[in-house]
Amino acid sequence: MSTLKDRFITGFLNFLFPSECPVCGNMSDDYKIAPLCKDCWHSIRPIDFNVCRSCAAPLKAAGATICVECIRNEPWFSNTFAYGVYDGALKEAIIAFKYAPYSRILVRQLGTFFNALNLPQANYIIPVPLSKKRLIHRGFNQSLLLAREVSVKFSVPVYYDLLLKTRDTGQQAKRKRNERKKALKNAFVVNVNKGIDDKHIIVVDDVMTTGATLNECAKALKKAGASKVTCVVLARAI
Ligand SMILES: [Zn+2]
Ligand SMILES: [Zn+2]
Repeated sequence: MSTLKDRFITGFLNFLFPSECPVCGNMSDDYKIAPLCKDCWHSIRPIDFNVCRSCAAPLKAAGATICVECIRNEPWFSNTFAYGVYDGALKEAIIAFKYAPYSRILVRQLGTFFNALNLPQANYIIPVPLSKKRLIHRGFNQSLLLAREVSVKFSVPVYYDLLLKTRDTGQQAKRKRNERKKALKNAFVVNVNKGIDDKHIIVVDDVMTTGATLNECAKALKKAGASKVTCVVLARAI
């Protein structure tokens, strides 16, 4: 419940800097979660059903802990922690987050979702890297902003240049699973100056769709000596 003081601050800030919710377009109505509005904010729910411990895909069989896909093709990463389903307000907020000027404001709100994850101990946190072309085009790496949030919350250092993307792989969204895999093959390289032998590394991204990108990152890290790779994402597409 918002207090009279909260409502006053919200009204005052809206008067000075009118702000619209990037999800529904209504006026922001609580300065603590602005620019998101209360309705959109409260509609974002954590995953509350059984998911694969490896890739966070939903599991239908009662008592199962791993999905059929992960049994058939064991991923290079060990496990995945996802806050919510890539749908509704969370999806819209993540899409807005990829564009300035929302990115720097929304990262604080979206970053709070990481508090709910019960992450294991790790040595380093890294973002899924962007290619140079993509980085210049966008101006920032949204995964690095999220990785910093995870780093502060769990007191594990971020190494933003430990993993590099050597070439642009284009838009993955419209590709089928096999095409995604092919496009990403050997696109990531580990910066060999960093010692990652026997290190447990958390890789952070905004969304996991098929897991192909995160799997390719994990493959490069494991081949370079990492003992374990854990994926952390805001949302899982299901
Ligand atoms: Zn809204
Ligand atoms: Zn799985």
